[in-house]
This record gives sequence, structure tokens and C-alpha cells, in this order.
Amino acid sequence: MAEEPLVIKKKKEKSFKDIVMEKLPDGGNLNACLTCGTCAAGCPATGLHGMDPRKIVRMAALGMDEELKQTPWAWMCSMCTRCVHACPMNVNIPQLIFNMRASWPRDQRPRGILRSCDAALSTDTCSAMGTREEDFEFIVNDVLEVIREQPGFEDMQAPIDKEGAYFFLNQNSREPVNEPEELGPLWKILHMVGADWTYGSKGWAAENYCMFLADDDAWKHITEMSIRKAEELGCKVFLNTE
Ligand code: SF4
Ligand code: SF4
Repeated sequence: MAEEPLVIKKKKEKSFKDIVMEKLPDGGNLNACLTCGTCAAGCPATGLHGMDPRKIVRMAALGMDEELKQTPWAWMCSMCTRCVHACPMNVNIPQLIFNMRASWPRDQRPRGILRSCDAALSTDTCSAMGTREEDFEFIVNDVLEVIREQPGFEDMQAPIDKEGAYFFLNQNSREPVNEPEELGPLWKILHMVGADWTYGSKGWAAENYCMFLADDDAWKHITEMSIRKAEELGCKVFLNTE
């Protein structure tokens, strides 16, 4: 008697990799890995807590979803994209890692990144250090005053909210807060080449920890705040110093 054919009744659930691939152009090439290890060789995070980008891709291919979603490797990556450029198959590992991060409950993501993102959301400057408009303005003017005492820089400008400036410049908030003298070298270069530039009172902070947190809405909010200010001032070029 012929055996009954095996019937698979339950539809196979989508794996984490399938879900991520649906979001990425060309599926991020996540199926194309040759296991050559070039990504791991050049990755600055390789070895941190046993992190290995090649293993991440293999785990995704093998459907090790629970392990992938829980491993701290998601937070070792700097999102530098070096692996994508080195990979012969253009496998988009950082995009995979970004989605691993997004699968974590927000309040369980690393506290330092979480706090920096929340601080940026607390003020229109978008500073991850929570620096307010008036404090930024005070520091900029204070540093400018010191530099203007140096020969050749007596008439140097460091404008905030200058209408119609060609360049909209942003700035990592660590500099005005912790190393204000570090603001000067870039201003001097801009002065020497005669660049027409301005900071914005809003959205001047260049860092975006909400992106590293994989919080899409917050990332979008921070980016829009800067872009909106640049557009409002009529600037032509957005100079991102990060
Ligand atoms: S470099 Fe690309 S192909 Fe090679 S192991 Fe890494 S992801 Fe796979
Ligand atoms: S993007 Fe992440 S995984 Fe890729 S090389 Fe940089 S740190 Fe490593």
C-alpha cells in the first residue's frame, strides 16, 4: 500500500532574516554570503564580547532568531559600514544589526545611548548633552572673543541664525560643553577661505544617538529639526561635521 504523502499544514513563520530582507533594497544581499571572513577581518568591533560580523550573517541564515535578538553584539557595532565596502558580495551587515537593535525593547537598550537620545529629544538644539540655546550662544561668543584677540582673526565671525548664509554648520555638543577651544580651528578655516556660514540656534548639534539607538521616530525628529532650521534660514549647503 502506498504511503500517505506528508502534508505540511502549518505555514512556515518568517524568520528574522526574511523580515529584515523585506525592508532592505535587494534584501541587503543577506543570502549572498560566501563565509570568506573579510568582514570580520576589517571590523573594529571584532572580538568585543566575542563579536564577529560573519557569525551574525551565518546565524541569520540558520534562523537562529532568538540568539540574534538577544546577543549584545548588536551594540558592539559602530555602524561604520567598513564591512559592506570590504565584502565581495556587498552584504549589508550594519542594516541587519540595526534591525537587531530595533528588536530590543527600548528601555532595555544600552543606557548611555538611550540617555543621550532622550537628552537630544528634550531640547530643540538636539544636543545629546542637553545643552540649551542660550548656553550654546554664550560659549560661542566667549570663544570668539578670545580668538579675535589673535592677529589675523580680529574680524572673525561665528554667527548663529544668520539669514541666507551659504553653509549651515552643525557641531558635536561635546565640543562647546567639554572642549570649547576645539571650536576655533574649524572657524579659522572657514574664516580663511571666506566661507559664508552659520550655526542654527535650533538643531545645531551634529550627533544623533537616536540613530544608534535604532529609534526611527526619534532619529527622524532630530534630523528634521536641523534640516528645518537650515531651510528656514535659506542655507544652501548642510555641513555635517559628524
Ligand atoms: S565579507 Fe561578505 S561574503 Fe565574506 S563572510 Fe563577510 S558577509 Fe560573508
Ligand atoms: S558596520 Fe559594524 S559590523 Fe560592519 S565593520 Fe563596522 S563595526 Fe563591524
